[in-house]
Amino acid sequence: MSQLDQDDRRRELVDMLTASRWITDPRVLQVLREVPRHLFFEAASAEDAYADKPRPIGLGQTISQPAVVGAISQALLLNGTERVLEIGTGSGYHAAVLSRLSAHVDSVERLRPFAEAARIRLATLGYANVSVHVGDGYEGWMSGAPYDRIAVTAAPTAVPDALIAQLAPGGVLVAPVGDLETQRLVRLRKDAQGGTVRVEDLGAILFVPMLRGTAS
Ligand code: SAH
Repeated sequence: MSQLDQDDRRRELVDMLTASRWITDPRVLQVLREVPRHLFFEAASAEDAYADKPRPIGLGQTISQPAVVGAISQALLLNGTERVLEIGTGSGYHAAVLSRLSAHVDSVERLRPFAEAARIRLATLGYANVSVHVGDGYEGWMSGAPYDRIAVTAAPTAVPDALIAQLAPGGVLVAPVGDLETQRLVRLRKDAQGGTVRVEDLGAILFVPMLRGTAS
């Protein structure tokens, strides 16, 4: 697998995502063009690394499909100044994408081996504005709150109250919500007074379930 091959495959994938018009934000497309997804998991080949599919990363978990990473990143309406919370670090790939679109990312992972591997990978690749934490995402990350944006990348059956509480006034949260069969991607927006929360349905989606507690 040569570097050139990987770069070509990545360019082809992003061209395809651009043509699909599902992702239209030029900043998001540019970041997808730059972040080397093949370095975030053990891909069998360049085709495998840049197929628009979720891929296994061990412990029954997956690195998300690039189109879905793009769609969630776009739905967060980032302009580069935000403090972001991600729930479900997994490989660290989505955290890397978010870090290039915002000021800082706190990413919380319940499985310690993933958190440790992602922390090293992100630091090695130069994503210095990401902090990875071991924790239960149902509790958010209190010490960094409030957050301008929250991205949930595992599916709870309802948006956890702690995450809504940790969202800043004017903030945006995007989460897959549902059970193993049916999930919807939802976007919550808190108004500037921090009172009313507006909910939008962004369509069908499929993520691994959000589980309770942490594990080593
Ligand atoms: N964003 C990841 C993919 C997420 S897969 C990436 O870019 O690779 C979902 C991840 O969420 C898994 O790693 C899983 O262990 C984690 N997870 C599930 N429930 C969680 C919880 N309550 N708190 C934190 N992480 C959780």
